[in-house]
Amino acid sequence: MKKPTQLFLLLTAIISFAFVNPNHPKPKQINVVIDAAHGGHDFGAVSNSINEKQIVEQIANKIKSLNKDKNVVIHFTRSSDVFVPLKERTEIANAIKPDLVLSLHVNSNTNKDKSGVEFFVYKDSKLYKESNNFAVKLSAEMSKNNSFEMGEIKNASYSIIKNATVPAVLIELGYLSNEKDKKHLTNEKEQNKIAESILQFVSSIK
Ligand SMILES: [Zn+2]
Repeated sequence: MKKPTQLFLLLTAIISFAFVNPNHPKPKQINVVIDAAHGGHDFGAVSNSINEKQIVEQIANKIKSLNKDKNVVIHFTRSSDVFVPLKERTEIANAIKPDLVLSLHVNSNTNKDKSGVEFFVYKDSKLYKESNNFAVKLSAEMSKNNSFEMGEIKNASYSIIKNATVPAVLIELGYLSNEKDKKHLTNEKEQNKIAESILQFVSSIK
């Protein structure tokens, strides 16, 4: 009797799985923490009257207002122009336990020819593979928007990607020191495109 019982149980399991898993599986809710870098007295990269803290805050706000997917829940480490210490940003993110932390930055370099988007993950993290996969997907999504060239995914030990207990990617959205990047980063339409690509990517990982 042992074998038929097992077979019966197996068949029951398959049938019930078929019923609980129809063609319309329940959409998964995804939680993402957007970390708009710098803020308050910390301006980040600066070029004349343009600064990093403002650009990343504008893009974070666009991500918030353009998100129409009720299964995508976006959280923020800051929602206004305030200074939030690095340690606190990681604590906020880790307390939420999101599926992903995305830290938004803008770069600057003495070499004015340097341009493009760069992605950073922390290689020694237990979640390196997951973070790296997210960076690959996000890079692919952002490359559809032809305004910026996509740089490689690099290893770094920046605070939030190092100390996050969930997958984390830091993006440098372009160089304020490069005229072309600066023009794009400060253009409303281009900021919308960046925000839309990020949202598209987030929806795709549900
Ligand atoms: Zn920065």
